[in-house]
Amino acid sequence: MSHTGSTINLNEPVVIARSRHTITRANISPNALKVLYRLKDADYQGYLVGGGVRDLLLGREPKDFDIATDAHPEDIRRLFRNCRLIGRRFRLAHVLFGREVIEVATFRALQEVAQDSNGERHIDDEGRIVRDNVYGTLAEDAFRRDFTVNALYYNIKDFSVIDYVGGMDDLNAGVLRLIGDPETRYREDPVRMLRAVRFATKLGFRLHPDTERPVKDMAPLLGDIPPARLFDEMLKLFMGGYALANFEALRHYNLFELLFPLTERALTHEEEHFPLTLISHGMENTDRRIEEDKPVTPAFLFAVFLWQPVRERARQLEAEGQHPAQALQHASSQIIAEQASVMAMPRRYSLPMREIWMLQLRLERKGGRRSMRVLSHPRFRAAYDFLLLRGEAGEVPVELGQWWTDFQEKHPEQREQEITRKRPRKSRRRGGRTSASKSKAVT
Ligand code: ATP
Ligand code: MG
Repeated sequence: MSHTGSTINLNEPVVIARSRHTITRANISPNALKVLYRLKDADYQGYLVGGGVRDLLLGREPKDFDIATDAHPEDIRRLFRNCRLIGRRFRLAHVLFGREVIEVATFRALQEVAQDSNGERHIDDEGRIVRDNVYGTLAEDAFRRDFTVNALYYNIKDFSVIDYVGGMDDLNAGVLRLIGDPETRYREDPVRMLRAVRFATKLGFRLHPDTERPVKDMAPLLGDIPPARLFDEMLKLFMGGYALANFEALRHYNLFELLFPLTERALTHEEEHFPLTLISHGMENTDRRIEEDKPVTPAFLFAVFLWQPVRERARQLEAEGQHPAQALQHASSQIIAEQASVMAMPRRYSLPMREIWMLQLRLERKGGRRSMRVLSHPRFRAAYDFLLLRGEAGEVPVELGQWWTDFQEKHPEQREQEITRKRPRKSRRRGGRTSASKSKAVT
């Protein structure tokens, strides 16, 4: 395997013997161990690497176990019947054990020349990696990784940990540090800025000053990342239990405006306080639900982020003479389309998000036969949660949410009584409630 012109690869690694670190096989997924042993028995190198090693060393439960090897994808496929090769640019092997997927990747080298001897381009004019498909050595594989704490290798041969980049020291010091020159590494792949934020909040680490310094200025590079990749990253940022911390850190580093430009504009120009409160409470709720193992959906998260832009747009359209429901419908379409140019959102999320928004109009008109029907709407629960959030944020009266809470808890017969008692026409004469909710309606 040829070197790529870098001298750092010649460094001798630090090897931390089995007796001097805390990783035990008891904490490694049995399936990952199976893969490692089979590679070893076939005389290949096999290492656990990335988040798995990092999290085990920190005493945390890894999300998944990734493996690095000198075996090529075809070799891996020969070894494992339950194996699928994926990826076009760089082929990876997925070894499948029921629902668990063990990702096995062949050592890769970072190409530091813009063009290789075959005339293939590896780095574009902006310094971004466009091709990443050259096999390498273990050392090369270590140096192309993002952060030092993500480049530790657990060796199945002798159970030692191999460290080329000072990852162990950074791990012990709680420091997240990019390998190599930070500006170059961010330019190669701007998503590393989002990863820096995500790991710092999740691990409770601080960014090394050199890793932190370029971020605010380089943030706009995220504008060139394909919308689908940004969507994936956004899920990791906001569905991993640290949504609130990530929201705040992303805003601090000027990164949030690249993910949600319309939301950032609404927050910067906010005159009322509730958009920020709505988002903070929404993130807090999401984190709490994940903590309690309750389901969370990206549709709800997006609904929270984009609500203020949608409200503002709907208000404009109403001022131009549209009926409230029509205005909200149109505003939703426009904002969804504008957001999609930055971040792709599959329809399976954008449709329910729309329903959550549209149901707000119906929930604002409590009482009457309609209240019964809305209860059985498949999106009622999410829309009701959203209404509670708006109440907490001070956008609608808290009593409105409370009314729906009480209404659901009532026995069906009591509900029937309640709505026949409070005919819409009657309640309109009584005035108070209807006009209160009307003044706070989505206009
Ligand atoms: P987690 O899975 O807990 O979110 P992780 O560190 O395992 O964290 P992955 O996205 O699963 O993160 O990636 C696995 C490993 O691949 C990382 O630890 C890192 O070594 C390497 N890696 C991933 N993305 C990049 C990137 N954009 N640039 C360089 N290396 C990367
Ligand atoms: Mg991982």
